Amino acid sequence: MNLDKLLRDNIRNLRPYSSARDEFSGEAMVFLDANENPFNQPYNRYPDPLQRELKEKIAGLKNCNVDQIFLGNGSDEPIDLLFRAFCEPGQDNMVTIDPTYGMYQVAADINNIEIRKVKLKEDYSFVAEELLARADERTKLVFVCSPNNPTANLLDKAEILKLIYGFDGLVVVDEAYIDFAPGASLLPELGQHENLIILQTFSKAWGMAGIRLGMAFASPEIIRILNKIKYPYNINILTQQKALELLELEEEKNKWVELLIEERQKLANSLEKFPFVVKVFPSDANFLLVKMHDARGIYEYLVENGIIVRDRSKVVLCEDSLRITVGSPEENAILIEKLNDLI
Ligand code: PMP
Repeated sequence: MNLDKLLRDNIRNLRPYSSARDEFSGEAMVFLDANENPFNQPYNRYPDPLQRELKEKIAGLKNCNVDQIFLGNGSDEPIDLLFRAFCEPGQDNMVTIDPTYGMYQVAADINNIEIRKVKLKEDYSFVAEELLARADERTKLVFVCSPNNPTANLLDKAEILKLIYGFDGLVVVDEAYIDFAPGASLLPELGQHENLIILQTFSKAWGMAGIRLGMAFASPEIIRILNKIKYPYNINILTQQKALELLELEEEKNKWVELLIEERQKLANSLEKFPFVVKVFPSDANFLLVKMHDARGIYEYLVENGIIVRDRSKVVLCEDSLRITVGSPEENAILIEKLNDLI
């Protein structure tokens, strides 16, 4: 893969905005460089544009190097930036699976990039060859999501590797839900694959959806490109501080994950017993995809009772299915109680 050739010309030639804090690192006594207000400390100051302290912490947690990490305003940010960096609007295309996370389509549409979708098999597996067959010389990105949203299953690692080896462009593996599938991440192998980009997020297992912090892991060359085109101060000071604080609570996160995996099984067992439930699909994530008779009717009944789940019944291969997040034991009990009232 020739990264330089994959890049859009305007991005290759771009002279990025250089913020005051980009040009300086170290301790200073007086900051008169960024037209900040000297009062209202510490919020008067712009945050570190490259989030060095936070990345050091994440590198330790994830066992990777600081220069392999990009941080974004949620992992939705690197999804968009990848299109902007590599896909020429109206000319290039990307290949992905169907169904999958809806933001790939939205980001592609915003950037005017053709999206080529390859339907999963009935068991929600995918065949790398089928994706590769849809790629042509204008395909810059292949996106897969594992565990996949909304189907909840991990994708076969051997098939993902076939994509990585077989595609002469960038392969993005979205691992937003990977903490719920222990041991399955491709991150330990990142250094072996120059065309692999892994997306992860603090919104799920870490319980930080509200502070908006997502990660992309890739080669230092790819990370440099994302840094070049991001907004200069994309991660605000509150998010950086709060994340540093919450990342000390790794044990707590591990307990939550353990509990949610247990609850996932319990919830699946309870749901399977309802006569209107056709199938609870196996899940490697923190949600269940559940096929039922009259899914829309049940969705509406739950909404009327103050319980919101995600209606996926119009999504390809998810006909008559609801996507239900695994909540706390109390929340799951309320859901089951309300469903019990239906029979
Ligand atoms: N990827 C997948 C597969 C998701 O389901 C989500 C959130 N629903 C995201 C990425 C985005 O996560 P965030 O922007 O909160 O990091």
